[in-house]
Amino acid sequence: MNSLLVADSVSKKFGEFTALNSVSVSVPEGSIFGLLGPNGAGKTTLIRIINQITMPDTGAVTLGGEPLQAHHIRDIGYMPEERGLYKSMKVGEQVLYLAQLKGLDKAEAKKRAKHWFDKLEIGEWWNKKIQELSKGQAQKIQFVVTVMHNPKLLIFDEPFSGFDPINANLIKDEILQLREEGATVIFSTHRMESVEELCDHIALINKSNKILDGEINAIKREYRNNTFEVGVEVGEDAFAKAQSALSSKFTTTPAHFKSLGDELKLRIQLDSNGSPNALLQELQSYGQVTHFVEVIPSVNDIFIQTVNQNV
Ligand code: ADP
Ligand code: MG
Repeated sequence: MNSLLVADSVSKKFGEFTALNSVSVSVPEGSIFGLLGPNGAGKTTLIRIINQITMPDTGAVTLGGEPLQAHHIRDIGYMPEERGLYKSMKVGEQVLYLAQLKGLDKAEAKKRAKHWFDKLEIGEWWNKKIQELSKGQAQKIQFVVTVMHNPKLLIFDEPFSGFDPINANLIKDEILQLREEGATVIFSTHRMESVEELCDHIALINKSNKILDGEINAIKREYRNNTFEVGVEVGEDAFAKAQSALSSKFTTTPAHFKSLGDELKLRIQLDSNGSPNALLQELQSYGQVTHFVEVIPSVNDIFIQTVNQNV
């Protein structure tokens, strides 16, 4: 797959503090690329470098194979973490003004604004001032401003903070659709667990360093460890016996999941060559199996594991 954006060994210091330490990422064309890591990791610094707001000390960034230059700004839609709309300017005027700065003529800007305002059902905000809107509402306007000129690369810095769950989902769906239409999307978040299903590629950033990156399913396959969450309905008298039989053979820990019965619930880790089918068969000998799923590590689990490996 072609990379639309490549950052090669990018480093940035602020005074004595290293905010990015030789970070390289390669963002495949047409992907949704998650830049994930805790607060202060360096995500915004990297995003600001990609947007030519900050210069790297060393390293280089290319877009479509070309070293970054001024005209690339029009190829990128950028929603900053500190949302920057003019508080006392009317929504509609502001949207048209910002779209024209991105190269649209006024008629085209109006057409596209109408499309987005209809789509997000926010037409009644057109004549309001930004300061009359809630934070989440203003953020929707900022989203429209970011995507309206149809840039090939969209960059959202912490797009979901400030949104309630319903609007966060709406924005997730819009991001998926923009990708369907051919855009490449980079977004950052410090809340890894809430958005991992959105990304197909990720880079984990911790304390100015990239600690892991790649295709998310490949990473998960690498970190899976043959663990299954199981539920078995076992008669009351046989419960303890089944439990001790299983824990003598396998590594087991209690499992917590919602169910309607009071079955035996365990997490069972098999040896690397252990067979899930054989486990299922064994469970059936204790009673009715009601639950049997592989435990897929979350990005958050993987992050913690990788950080611990690197210390
Ligand atoms: P993230 O977006 O992952 O939360 P940032 O890239 O915003 O992290 O910040 C990384 C580190 O760099 C933080 O410790 C932050 O305080 C520092 N930093 C960022 N920008 C500046 C700046 N302009 N001057 C000094 N320190 C900065
Ligand atoms: Mg940030």
